[in-house]
Amino acid sequence: MLSDTSAVVTGASSGIGAAVAQALAAEGATVALLARRRDRLAALAETVDARAGGRAHVYQADVTDADAVRTAIDAAARDCGGIDILVNNAGGGTWGPALTADLADWHGTVEVNLNGVLNTTHAALPYLTRAAAGHRRGVADIVTISSAAGRRVPGPMSNVYAATKHAVGAFSEALRQELAEHHVRAGLVEPGVVVTELTTGGRAHAPDATRPTGYGLLQPDDIAAAVVFMVTRPRHAAVNEILVRPTEQVL
Ligand code: NDP
Repeated sequence: MLSDTSAVVTGASSGIGAAVAQALAAEGATVALLARRRDRLAALAETVDARAGGRAHVYQADVTDADAVRTAIDAAARDCGGIDILVNNAGGGTWGPALTADLADWHGTVEVNLNGVLNTTHAALPYLTRAAAGHRRGVADIVTISSAAGRRVPGPMSNVYAATKHAVGAFSEALRQELAEHHVRAGLVEPGVVVTELTTGGRAHAPDATRPTGYGLLQPDDIAAAVVFMVTRPRHAAVNEILVRPTEQVL
């Protein structure tokens, strides 16, 4: 369904981003994989090539480095023949009590989760509007991976993480309003707790996906399915928001 399209996926070296890249490639998209860990991206690119028959290109970049992001996005557009889909997925951050927080950690979370999204979106916008105006699909997509914590603060300790995810939600909605006439759809996917390195690495106060629930937690593929649903709608239908929680998750 996505043959003749190309998608940039940030944070494709693990977790949700890797699953999204695989799923888009399985739909026929050429995928541009962007993250800092080149070896992980290269390994994923080989799997994409083998499994889906699709193509993958690798770009090592830190999303907090605006120049590096622009260079990578320009290269991806050249290598892939344009950009039809941008998935703003790279993210992370720290959780913990405000009273003892390290200010540098707060700034670091803003750098990745908010400024990272701004850097990639700004660099990709000219290519997305061009793709939307072209004849391939007549539409382009920006999908941003926010969080359930971007809809409501899930509790103490999530202060700056929740703030950045609320911010990308506002940014996505503003983009949606501005880009509607250009046929660039802006969608927000808001996962609850997903089993990834973020939730199984033992980070203090982070959501913990290491304890079995009996019913099962979300896997990266569950979120990838939501992204694929969004970007495979016909051009007249924009799915602007999808919240996906594990069945047993309350907040
Ligand atoms: P992972 O830790 O598995 O993946 C994070 C990805 O982001 C990695 O590929 C990492 O690549 C990349 N990344 C982090 N910092 C940077 C950076 N500065 N520059 C470039 N890439 C970067 O976590 P998830 O898959 O869980 O997270 C993906 C997204 O999903 C995040 O935005 C997260 O906030 C969101 N999310 C996750 C939830 C969960 O429960 N897991 C719930 C709700 C939202 P590398 O280190 O190679 O650069």
